[in-house]
Amino acid sequence: CGIVGYVGQRDSIDVLMNGLSRLEYRGYDSAGVAVIGEDGTLSTRKRAGKLAVLAEDVAESPVPQSSTGIGHTRWATHGGPTDDNAHPHLSADGKLALIHNGIIENFAAIRDELLAEGYTFASETDTEAAAILLGREYEKTGDLRAAFRRVVGRLEGAFTLLAVHQDEPDLVVGARQNSPLVIGLGEGENFLGSDVAAFVEFTRYALAIGEGQMVAITPEGVEVTDFEGNPVESTPFEVQWDA
Ligand code: GLU
Repeated sequence: CGIVGYVGQRDSIDVLMNGLSRLEYRGYDSAGVAVIGEDGTLSTRKRAGKLAVLAEDVAESPVPQSSTGIGHTRWATHGGPTDDNAHPHLSADGKLALIHNGIIENFAAIRDELLAEGYTFASETDTEAAAILLGREYEKTGDLRAAFRRVVGRLEGAFTLLAVHQDEPDLVVGARQNSPLVIGLGEGENFLGSDVAAFVEFTRYALAIGEGQMVAITPEGVEVTDFEGNPVESTPFEVQWDA
């Protein structure tokens, strides 16, 4: 039910936990994060229950120092609120993580196609079909933006999606269709959030993303495109916030 993404210089786990706690007011049943560590590997922590349960997990078993990551709070629609069903979901090789708010209406057809190819699933969610598919497309393209475009173009339903891959450590890609996503603009860092609360602690400068659009953020910049990859204009605005 809440989404946050970060690329920059800060330790991303701090930004993600801060963003998720600011999104708690929306309600959720599970929470999780994935970060790309400075050692170049993807680490994930995800737990059913309150954010405090995830925070305890991270305290007991810290993730590596990292400047790229994604965080999620889940409101279960497909599969009960369990640790396995919590997001992020991973590609088959474990190098790529994906989070999702909304519902992927055609997930069963995608899952059946992947099962027939020998892929296995670790959860009962609609989301995992998109994660495994994205991993398959990454193997073909070796390019997260291109792979993500292929996947997003196939999905039906309402979704906000973010993804990271350990071989492209300074990049977070996102997409929205009938579900919210906003960019937060920093200096040498950028943010994504399902609403501005996710990054308001760090920046008041934001950029809107339209329906049916995708975004790629790096520490140096943001690129907004349609689902075919054509650049689109987006509108900067200043967040009004009292707190
Ligand atoms: N449909 C997904 C799931 O059940 C995402 C739910 C959400 O919006 O948090 O895991």
